Amino acid sequence: MTGETNRFVIEKKKTPQKTDAKTRITNFNEIYADFKTTEASHQSSRCAQCGVPFCQHGCPLQNNIPDWLRLTAEGRIEEAYLISSATSTLPEICGRICPQDRLCEGSCVLEQSGWENVTIGSVERYINDMAFENGWIEPIQPDVERSQSIGIIGSGPAGIAAADRLRTLGYKVSIYDRYDRPGGLLTYGIPSFKLEKHVVARRTDRLAQSGVEFVMNCDIGNDVTFEELRDKHDAILVATGVYKARRLSVPGCGSKGVVAALDYLITANKVGFGDEIEDFTSGRLNAKGKTVVVVGGGDTAMDCVRTATRQGAKAVTCVYRRDRANMPGSDREVSNAEEEGVRFEWLSAPKAVLGDAETVEGIKIQRMRLTTPDAQGRQGIEDIHGAENDLPADLIIEALGFEPENLPVMFNEPGLEVTRWGTIRVMAGEFQTMVPGVFAAGDIVRGASLVVWAVREGQDAAADIHHYLKTQLLAAANDGDAQLAGVAE
Ligand SMILES: Cc1cc2nc3c(=O)[nH]c(=O)nc-3n(C[C@H](O)[C@H](O)[C@H](O)COP(=O)(O)OP(=O)(O)OC[C@H]3O[C@@H](n4cnc5c(N)ncnc54)[C@H](O)[C@@H]3O)c2cc1C
Ligand code: SF4
Repeated sequence: MTGETNRFVIEKKKTPQKTDAKTRITNFNEIYADFKTTEASHQSSRCAQCGVPFCQHGCPLQNNIPDWLRLTAEGRIEEAYLISSATSTLPEICGRICPQDRLCEGSCVLEQSGWENVTIGSVERYINDMAFENGWIEPIQPDVERSQSIGIIGSGPAGIAAADRLRTLGYKVSIYDRYDRPGGLLTYGIPSFKLEKHVVARRTDRLAQSGVEFVMNCDIGNDVTFEELRDKHDAILVATGVYKARRLSVPGCGSKGVVAALDYLITANKVGFGDEIEDFTSGRLNAKGKTVVVVGGGDTAMDCVRTATRQGAKAVTCVYRRDRANMPGSDREVSNAEEEGVRFEWLSAPKAVLGDAETVEGIKIQRMRLTTPDAQGRQGIEDIHGAENDLPADLIIEALGFEPENLPVMFNEPGLEVTRWGTIRVMAGEFQTMVPGVFAAGDIVRGASLVVWAVREGQDAAADIHHYLKTQLLAAANDGDAQLAGVAE
C-alpha cells in the first residue's frame, strides 16, 4: 500500500487488464479484469484530493469519490466500501458500465490538466466486488418493521435502488415485472461482455433474502390491473423504463430481415442464460454467418455490433448519420467495437432497404455532411446531393432509440399525466406523479438515459415515498387511528 495520495506525478494511469480483441470475440465474458489490490491502491493514490472535487460533481450520485480513493490508497477497503455504498445502491454495476469519460472521470481535474484521469470506475468496481467476496454485504435487516407496503412496477435499476432503500427503512416491498428474470435492462438489454449476469443476480438475490418479494411474469395492466395494485399497496412506484423502439421509415423497412435492437439483444441474453429461443434457432435473431448492418450511433448500437461479432457474423458495419465526434455512444465502447473488427460508415443515413418482404439483400445509404456550427456550436447534417451507395446485408438491426409506452392507456389511469415526450410527469423537484401515492422514477420519467441516473432517481423516489407515508400516518394519528399511527417514526 502506498498510503499516500497526490502521486499522479510518479504513478502513471493504468486501466485494468483488457482481454485482447481476438480472444474476447470468441465469448461473452466481461472484457475487463478486476484490479488487483496493489493496482487499485496505486491508482487510487494518484488522486489529487481536490478541495472542490469536480469528479463528485460529474457523478449523478454525487459519490464521495476522493474519500473512497484515499481509503483505498491506504488499504482500508472495508471503510472505502462503507463510504461508496452510502450514496449508491449499485456501485459495482455503475463502476462497470457508467460512461465515465462523460461523467466522473471526464470531470477529474487531472484529466483536465493533462495528467490523465484517476480510474474512478474501476476502483469503485474493485471496492464493491471485494465487499461481496469478503461477505461485508449482507441481507438488509431494518431497525424497525413497518406495516405499510409499496408496490414497485419494474425490476430495473430504478426499481432495485428504490426497493433497497425502502426495505432498509422497514417497509414491505413487492416488485412486479413482466419479464421472467429481474434486473430490467441490466439483465436483458446490456450484454454480458459489459456486465456479467451473476453481478446483477447477486444484488437481486440479496434483496430477495432481505424480504423483498419479486413477482415475475406479471404484466401490470394485463395480468394485474393498476387499480388492483393501488388497492393492495400504500404507495406505488412506476419504474417501467422505455420500451417503444423507434423504427426506420424508408422504403423496404418492413422486411423480416430488419429487426429491432432490443428484440435482438434480449434474445442474445436469453440464449446466454441457456434458454431455447425459436427466433434464435431459426436464425431470424442470430447473426451467425451473416453480413450485418446496424443503424444507429448510441450505446445500444455498439452493444448490437459487438454481440453480432461474438455470434460469428461474417462482417459487421455500423451506419451512423453523423461523424465519430458527434456520436451519442461512449467513446470507450466505439473503440472497443473498432478493435473487435466492426466497420463504421460515418455520415451515412439509410435511404432504402434492398430485398423483399422476407429477406434483405442490402441497404442504400445517403452520404451526409455536417453543416456550419450554429450559435451554440452545434452542427446539423445535410444530404450530399447524388452521393449514395449500397452496402450488402442479410440482417439489418435498427438501434434508433426508445420512447415510452402509453402508460395512462396501458394502466387505464388517465390521471397519470405525461409530458409531450410521453414520459410520466412528476411534481417539480420530487417524484410523485399527479396521482396521489403514485411515484415514478428512471427512464420512464427522464427518457432513455443511464443506469446511474435510474439509481439516483430510484433512491430519491424512495425518500419521497418515505416522506409521503409518514405524512399519511401522521394524518391518521390526527384522525385518531392510533393503531396505524403507532408505527410512525
Ligand atoms: C441495449 C442497451 C444498452 C445500455 N447500456 C448502458 C450502459 O452501458 N450504461 C448505462 O449507464 N446505461 C445503459 N443503458 C441505459 C440503461 O440500461 C437504462 O437507462 C436503465 O436500465 C433504466 O433503468 P429503469 O429501471 O428506469 O428501466 P429498465 O432497466 O428498463 O427496467 C424497467 C423494467 O420494468 C419492467 N416493466 C415495464 N413495463 C411493465 C409492466 N407494465 N408491468 C411489469 N413490468 C414492467 C420491464 O420488464 C423492466 O424489467 C443501455 C440501454 C440499452 C437499451
Ligand atoms: S456512479 Fe458512475 S459517474 Fe459516479 S463515480 Fe461511479 S462510475 Fe463515476
